[in-house]
Amino acid sequence: MIYFIGAGPGAEDLITVRGKNLLEQADLIIYAGSLVNPGLLKYAKPECVIMNSAHMTLEEVIAAMVPAAQEGKLVVRLHTGDPSVYGAHREQIDLLRGYDLDFEIVPGVSSFCAAAAALKAEYTLPNISQSVIITRMEGRTPVPNRQKIADYAQHKATMVIFLSSGMLEKLSQELIKGGYKADTPAAIVYKASWPDERVVKCTVGTLAESAAKYGINKTALITVGGFLGNEYDRSELYNPTFAHGFREADPSKLDLKPEVK
Ligand code: SAH
Repeated sequence: MIYFIGAGPGAEDLITVRGKNLLEQADLIIYAGSLVNPGLLKYAKPECVIMNSAHMTLEEVIAAMVPAAQEGKLVVRLHTGDPSVYGAHREQIDLLRGYDLDFEIVPGVSSFCAAAAALKAEYTLPNISQSVIITRMEGRTPVPNRQKIADYAQHKATMVIFLSSGMLEKLSQELIKGGYKADTPAAIVYKASWPDERVVKCTVGTLAESAAKYGINKTALITVGGFLGNEYDRSELYNPTFAHGFREADPSKLDLKPEVK
């Protein structure tokens, strides 16, 4: 069996219980060494073979996985965050299908969730944004037409921008081209959940200079939008004037305050 496991954003205790249990049983672990916390490898049993995919090609990864899985070994492919977000696991799955091997995917905490936690923020504030756009700047990997930063900026929804902290001047320009004002709140979250995590609050216009000030040029997410401000509507779900399947409406509860000791 082959398991594609999300390692979480960095902190060793942000892997899922299921992911950790499988790491403990694995006979072969191939981990994405550029971003996965090597501390997670301590969960492996002593005889487990461990390989770092940062030095490997797709073909080499498959060539290592297939014979081990065919011998009945438990193979773990450990991806950073959640494998479904820029994880490049689809191409591995498609090659594995040719060998009639069983595989399963174990989700992980994506770094965009860890970034929200670091910011102590909610991406989906009522009347500010009800959508989160996960995207990236075009780099060596092209971005399809109508999916460029400027296209998405037009929506004024919360944006979480991966893989782009090395091109922040251009990112600012694209966001402004799409309609964001230069003073729109933005934040750079470096190594969310790692011991050296850093949160830098800035604006769309000051992304590059703010990152440069702290020497940040990789392992960071850029978040943009009104969710970083102080204006929003309270939720209907928890509003005393609003009834739903689990609760009657009771406007008198609007006056409810905690008892102060
Ligand atoms: N699958 C991963 C993303 C892999 S792409 C996930 O779900 O998080 C790699 C990019 O993710 C990095 O360039 C960076 O933009 C972002 N990233 C990964 N871990 C991060 C972390 N702990 N803090 C901030 N950004 C992170």
